[in-house]
Amino acid sequence: MNTPRGVDAVIVGAGFAGLYMLHKLRGQGLSAVVFEKGDGVGGTWYWNRYPGARCDVESPYYSFSFDPELEQDWEWTERYPAQPELLRYLNHVADRYDLRRDIELDTTVTSANYDDGAGLWRVSSAGPRGAEETTARFCIMATGCLSTSRIPDFAGLDTYTGKVYHTGDWPHEGVDFTGKRVGVIGTGSSGIQSIPEIARQAEHLNVFQRTPNFSVPANNGPLDQKLWQDVKANYRKIREDAKHTPTGLPFPPGPDSALEAPPEDRQRVFDEHWTLGGFRLGQCFSDLAISKEANDTVAEYIRTKIDEIVQDPETARILKPYDHPVGTKRICVDTDYYDTYNRDNVSLIDVRKSPIQELTPDGLRTADKEYKLDAIVFATGFDAMTGALLGIDIRGRDGVSLREKWEAGPRAYLGLSVAGFPNLFTVTGPGSPSVLSNMITSIEQHVDWISDHIAYLDSNGLTSSEPVPEAEDEWVEHVNAVAEMTLFPQANSWYLGANVPGKPRVFMPYVGGVGAYRAKCDEVAARAYEGFVLA
Ligand code: FAD
Ligand code: NAP
Repeated sequence: MNTPRGVDAVIVGAGFAGLYMLHKLRGQGLSAVVFEKGDGVGGTWYWNRYPGARCDVESPYYSFSFDPELEQDWEWTERYPAQPELLRYLNHVADRYDLRRDIELDTTVTSANYDDGAGLWRVSSAGPRGAEETTARFCIMATGCLSTSRIPDFAGLDTYTGKVYHTGDWPHEGVDFTGKRVGVIGTGSSGIQSIPEIARQAEHLNVFQRTPNFSVPANNGPLDQKLWQDVKANYRKIREDAKHTPTGLPFPPGPDSALEAPPEDRQRVFDEHWTLGGFRLGQCFSDLAISKEANDTVAEYIRTKIDEIVQDPETARILKPYDHPVGTKRICVDTDYYDTYNRDNVSLIDVRKSPIQELTPDGLRTADKEYKLDAIVFATGFDAMTGALLGIDIRGRDGVSLREKWEAGPRAYLGLSVAGFPNLFTVTGPGSPSVLSNMITSIEQHVDWISDHIAYLDSNGLTSSEPVPEAEDEWVEHVNAVAEMTLFPQANSWYLGANVPGKPRVFMPYVGGVGAYRAKCDEVAARAYEGFVLA
């Protein structure tokens, strides 16, 4: 172990959040170091290199807004940029702001302990130089909501002799599936994006689907240059608008009720949004997220589309979502997904009806049959929102561990800060809009808020900040109450931890919307950080 080095702030993670956090704190004259597990920056876009990986928020909005020159200089090529372009963008950001000199790659943070006496965090990491300790006044977790990929614990996993991949930890050199018998397990966004691409290469592709999801075509293509020039000319206003909508996108939800609209108007609006592409279909009426009856109209619309696209009626039937309202799991945004099932080399296997029993040396056995596979792609998702945080042994005041504190589910004030863990901040932590929003808007809001808070502490001679337990309790209650007012709890989603056996079933993100949430955070700050004990 080294002699601990001291910095003002340790930042864990070098995705969008960690990069901006470092830039921001440096701008305030603080010293900071970023630790990143991967051997490159980019976070999500460093790890998720599977074929077809691209964002589901359009490029003009899925980008940093903090520097008007950056947004004017950078040129996106596609409406929904693919992973290599997003990774190039994040590398450009790292270079442009000279961030790399304070980023330690290939370095995993294993623990973070608050030293009450010294008023410092002691952060242990393991990297190229071995185990090290760093002390810091502030510890900022920019560890990502979707950064802990998960392979289910299938019986026989170790006996399988073919190739195994997870979409969230894809080989950098790429994978050639030509001539291979491939199985994809999982039909969330990652499966739905990768299946059409893998199908184009593989000799045969078996898709193992447990739950069908709603997917809407991206209608991706080169970025419309007229729109891009308009966006550039109005970027400041667009960014400002995005801060105050529910989603962090500069488009408010449709103002009208789907239920009250005459059927022909409703159909026209759905058609327009289907053609437009992307998940705005789920927001084109005001009541889709709160009324099951209203939601049924858009659900039925998508099911009809599946019937129209997929030629085999039995395959179409299996693909039709039935167990959750539209939007209660993130709507998938695809390119050619449903049409892929019209290919001769693609089979859909309903593993709800015939569950996967085990992996075998040659493939996989369901209750009905054994499938011989040269490669299995796990598109099985993440231990979302809490996985990366609880992967680190975080201990606050009196050695209390975050794992123990969150045993029954995460508890945090504003999704930013945890009672008993002074000067620890979580960017897009549980209890904030995070994954229900355009995450770049939410990340920037959190980074700005945390930096302002630190500046406030420093300028007032304060050294410690943590929420009072009552404020935290009230916020957690509010997060739950708002979720209960919507259709979200009706889905067995990863928002609720439902995808990880044994994970407490708690609705983690804040449904109240980006705009309302920002107003609350601003109000807390304006009231001298109401709900925090500052010492
Ligand atoms: P991340 O990008 O996840 O970065 C966190 C980093 O922390 C990771 O690199 C990880 O290695 C590192 N880390 C974690 N634990 C440790 C540790 N103990 N020690 C060291 N390093 C650690 N959101 C949208 O809004 N729109 C989209 O279109 C969209 N598309 C997505 C597509 C995919 C395939 C996935 C998986 C997610 C997508 N998301 C999207 C969500 C996406 O995660 C965010 O948009 C954003 O990239 C998150 O940035 P971040 O910096 O918060 O976290
Ligand atoms: P996911 O949404 O959690 O989907 C995982 C899939 O694996 C589900 O279909 C799930 O089925 C299945 N699965 C899990 N365990 C299984 C098991 N034991 N047996 C059979 N099937 C199993 O994960 P994801 O697709 O990686 O997406 C996660 C999130 O990342 C998205 O919601 C989105 O926010 C983000 N993302 C965005 C994009 C984009 O378009 N930009 C792309 C990828 C990811 P069940 O539903 O039955 O559990």
